[in-house]
This record gives sequence, C-alpha cells and structure tokens, in this order.
Amino acid sequence: MDSEVHNLHNSFSEKYDCLQCGNCCRTLGPRITEKDIDKIAKALRCKPSDIIERYIKKDEDNDFIFKSMPCPFLMPDNYCQIYESRPKACREYPHTNRKNFYQIYMLSVKNASTCPIVYEILEHIKK
Ligand code: SF4
Ligand code: SF4
Repeated sequence: MDSEVHNLHNSFSEKYDCLQCGNCCRTLGPRITEKDIDKIAKALRCKPSDIIERYIKKDEDNDFIFKSMPCPFLMPDNYCQIYESRPKACREYPHTNRKNFYQIYMLSVKNASTCPIVYEILEHIKK
C-alpha cells in the first residue's frame, strides 16, 4: 500500500501548486518542537525566548503551537517567511509520503478536508 500511496503522493504533489493553495498554513497549527524554535530563532537572528514570547503558546496537550492562525510566517503570496527553517511538522505535511500509511489513515481522512493532495489520494484509493 505504501508504494501505491507514495506514487499518488508524487503525482498529485506535482499537480497542485502549494503556492496557489496555502490552506494548511492558514488553518492547521503545526506542532512545534524546541528544536524548531531554536532553528526559527537562528533564522530570524533572535533568542528562542523571543520567538516563544512573540509567536508561540501551549495547547491543551502542553504542545507548542503558533499563537494564532493563519501562521504568522505565511506571507501574502503564500510563501513561507522561514521556509528553510520551518518546523518539522510543516516539512512533513501532508504526510502521505511517509512509511506505514495505514497508521495515519484516519489523520489523512481529516486532512482531506484541508489538503487537495490528500483528498485526491483518498479518492483514488477508494476507486
Ligand atoms: S511555518 Fe511556514 S510552512 Fe509552517 S505553517 Fe507557517 S508558513 Fe506554513
Ligand atoms: S493544503 Fe496541501 S496543497 Fe495546500 S498548501 Fe498545504 S500541502 Fe500544499
């Protein structure tokens, strides 16, 4: 199943231009790690504590997330201001090229309402 899903991921990732979409950056708050915060701070040449104070809060599970969405680093043209230093969760989204797709099937069903790539992959699997 993984190889089928990965093939679909590659072909639909080519079909959709994320710069014309930006839905994930507008609506989903990525989970942010301390390592992510360090990288963002380095990219913006400030202290990690400044990044936390300005952009980050903790959610009900005690995970770091952005204080508000759309993401504060999403620019009007849908480019990411910190693209090279973006959080790991952003780099991996929409996760459809990871191993053991069956483990994230339910997450993908949820993501299908945000991401057209995931939607198309699930539609193909159904067929
Ligand atoms: S950090 Fe960049 S890739 Fe991640 S949500 Fe914000 S704009 Fe999108
Ligand atoms: S929702 Fe999907 S298609 Fe849209 S920007 Fe995010 S990854 Fe790209």
